[in-house]
Amino acid sequence: MILQAIEFATAHGTSANGRNRVKYVRRLEQVEDLTDEERGRLQPVVDRFAFRANDYYLTLIDWDDPGDPIRRLIIPCEEELADFGKLDASNESAITVAPGVQHKYGDTALLLCNELCGAYCRYCFRKRLFMTTNAEVTTDITPGLEYIAAHREINNVLLTGGDPLLMSPRRLRRTIAALRAIPHVEIIRIGSKMPAFDPWRVLDNEEMQAVFRDFSTPEKRIYLMAHFDHPRELTPEAIDGIACLIDNGVICCNQCPLIEGVNADPDVLAELYEKLSFAGCPPYYLFQGRPTAGNRPYEVPIVRGYQIYNHAIQRVSGLAARARFCMSHESGKIQILHVDNRYIYMKYHRAKDPRDLGRFVVCHRDDDAYWFDQLRPVDQV
Ligand code: SF4
Repeated sequence: MILQAIEFATAHGTSANGRNRVKYVRRLEQVEDLTDEERGRLQPVVDRFAFRANDYYLTLIDWDDPGDPIRRLIIPCEEELADFGKLDASNESAITVAPGVQHKYGDTALLLCNELCGAYCRYCFRKRLFMTTNAEVTTDITPGLEYIAAHREINNVLLTGGDPLLMSPRRLRRTIAALRAIPHVEIIRIGSKMPAFDPWRVLDNEEMQAVFRDFSTPEKRIYLMAHFDHPRELTPEAIDGIACLIDNGVICCNQCPLIEGVNADPDVLAELYEKLSFAGCPPYYLFQGRPTAGNRPYEVPIVRGYQIYNHAIQRVSGLAARARFCMSHESGKIQILHVDNRYIYMKYHRAKDPRDLGRFVVCHRDDDAYWFDQLRPVDQV
């Protein structure tokens, strides 16, 4: 029902109130620049892992370049069908404590309040949410709010999904107002790729802007955790969208994974980080890709990932270099600190078990490993 409402509301062009509207597509036949042969080859991929894009984002693709990074980000590829990983690679279902609520670190809760995104990133680690059988996201957040209200240690709530900025402004207002009514919730963050997928979701949307103005106060700011993966996503409209968020009181920062063929290149990553820092949306986390089913073509081994990250941050200013390179592992957020000829050095930046917090971990260097579980700690011979 939500899907129908959103797709009904997003007719192409300009709406009656003068807002720009992007047009969503869910079938490969709707992507004019794909050939019939390509559509035939890619249909089995779409049958397994959902496809969704929009006309604005598709215009960012250079269709003459088969390896175009924006194309890679949004258009399926056959290698997704390779046998690889699990659908829930970080075992998020194990920390789901109420419908739509994940609680892994004492002070932080995730509220999965929407099961749609402005497009579906091919490398998404939550692609299971877009599958018809999934029930981890809820549109009724009442039990989730009750859980958060009953747990006074939670001072930090991340609205995520799917993309919370695809909710109607009225529903977003209701959600944020309900969280603001819980005294111990100090920080509200919104994880969103809409500034990249559809800048007009905020730009032309006075009702949405009013939500930010009303609830991002000097004492308690709202944080927008943006998700730009490549410098070409930072179009003039996207930069205007960031400026609009800032003008309405929002603090912006960026988090994204390292993606083969998209940003796994020190030059590209450095350019992305510089542009983001210039625009007032400095990087926060760079994530090692989770070994998620369907994501084989987008994965970068840990060692090469660290080398790319390290080269990138060495050539940018301090603000652009603030990103931590982390693995969101089932046991916690593990920061990759350094790699030398023999070892990989890591530290628990966040930990599911508080006893692991800050724990230093040294593993034997393995240039083929993609994930923490594949590494061998030095105390194991
Ligand atoms: S915006 Fe995030 S949740 Fe949505 S498809 Fe992309 S990676 Fe997945």
